[in-house]
Amino acid sequence: MNVSVIGTGYVGLVSGVCFSELGHHVHCVDQDKAKVKQLQNGKVPIYEPNLEELMKKNMGEGRLCFTEHLSVGISKADAIIIAVGTPANEDGSANLTFIQQVAKEIGEHIRPGMVIITKSTVPVGTNKQIKQWIAEICGHELFSIASCPEFLREGSAINDTLHMERAVFGVEDAHAEQILRELHASLNTSIVVTNLETAETAKYAANAFLATKISFINEVANVCEKVGADVSALAKVMGLDPRIGPSFLQAGAGYGGSCFPKDTQAFIRVGKQAGYDMQIIPAVEKVNKQQRGHLFNKVKMALGESLNKKQVAILGLAFKPNTDDMRAAPALDLVESLQKEKIEVIAFDPVASEQAKHHLPELKLANSWQEAVIGADAVLILTDWDEFKEMNLIKLRELMHQPVVVDGRNLFEPKEMEGAGFYYDPVGRQKVDGRLKALKKWENFSLDVHSSAH
Ligand code: NAD
Repeated sequence: MNVSVIGTGYVGLVSGVCFSELGHHVHCVDQDKAKVKQLQNGKVPIYEPNLEELMKKNMGEGRLCFTEHLSVGISKADAIIIAVGTPANEDGSANLTFIQQVAKEIGEHIRPGMVIITKSTVPVGTNKQIKQWIAEICGHELFSIASCPEFLREGSAINDTLHMERAVFGVEDAHAEQILRELHASLNTSIVVTNLETAETAKYAANAFLATKISFINEVANVCEKVGADVSALAKVMGLDPRIGPSFLQAGAGYGGSCFPKDTQAFIRVGKQAGYDMQIIPAVEKVNKQQRGHLFNKVKMALGESLNKKQVAILGLAFKPNTDDMRAAPALDLVESLQKEKIEVIAFDPVASEQAKHHLPELKLANSWQEAVIGADAVLILTDWDEFKEMNLIKLRELMHQPVVVDGRNLFEPKEMEGAGFYYDPVGRQKVDGRLKALKKWENFSLDVHSSAH
């Protein structure tokens, strides 16, 4: 098939590359000229494992190309995939400016029989609105629309797409369904065919449910801290029940990223507009916000009375590992809160430094975790990168001014940290303070040395 993908962000680029890998001919279109140039030169502007290699392979085999001109992109297309951003408006509703702009541009170039597929996450009713926007420009309705929401996860996006667990085809007619089936023909996946409204709502419901799991376990974690329970063991117990399942039960800094925060907000607005006042999702959001404050309080408590001129090293800026995406990342709020208290913040992330320069231009960035922690009064871990799990604890303690770690991702066992001489405050597990023991060990050692010298 000939496919045109509009928008080459995380979703559009991965979809374009993967559909070309499946044998389709794909034109990717983006209005960002610099990005298109970079892509034409075989460079991926985002961090996504294996994406660049697969992109170059398919460009080399002549199935994938990039353009800034929508007319070129869609001239031969059987299907047009819309994958532009739908950020949040001030009031939390989805901003459809990019979608509307694309629909109008499609209207200028559309041919009868084309299928317009929306992968962007959009509120219920948007696909019908897209049809109207296009028809207003082209003057007919001899085309089909479809909602095919995207479920990939940044960091494992290629695998998620080439081995997708399910595909939702929200359609109005058989032609759109047939084109979607052809597009996905070589994928072994469960397909659910629905109307447009169900497909649009399914994406919001799925994200809202995952966000709920995260806020739920964080709320439980906060109780655990107060009653002497351990959330990691507790989550294991819960997760062994197949009705619950083990994933998304890791207590921590809360959710961030380009999807959950804006999609939960937009879902609340979808309900409101339909005359239904949701109760659960607003609570999920509230808990998520509070969790960041909870971590901030942990840092404050660890630093003691005076915060002025104290130095905190933040390890991890991306909202999760294996991505450079910092949109709505917990780090954004925590850096701001710490800096407000005049605490000096230095941060390190294995891949998100470039993004950090845009999001937090004032933030001091280090080139390694070792550099970030030099002279620090506390380390705050915000992303569960493997590199941080594998840190040499002796080296860490040596480099820091005070051996204090607040762990927003529960990377270490409290006992291990206590043994290594740290004050260690994880989430939903009991805080330990090994500083005194380390000091005693050292005193005994110097006493031994002293007495053997006599
Ligand atoms: P993004 O912001 O990374 O990329 C959007 C791209 O669209 C940008 O490159 C922008 O230049 C381009 N664009 C905007 N208007 C355009 C126009 N008129 N013509 C051509 N290009 C245009 O967004 P993203 O993260 O890829 O998300 C896209 C959509 O997919 C959103 O609705 C998002 O909610 C949804 N989604 C995202 C993810 C994810 O993990 N990022 C997962 C599932 C669904």
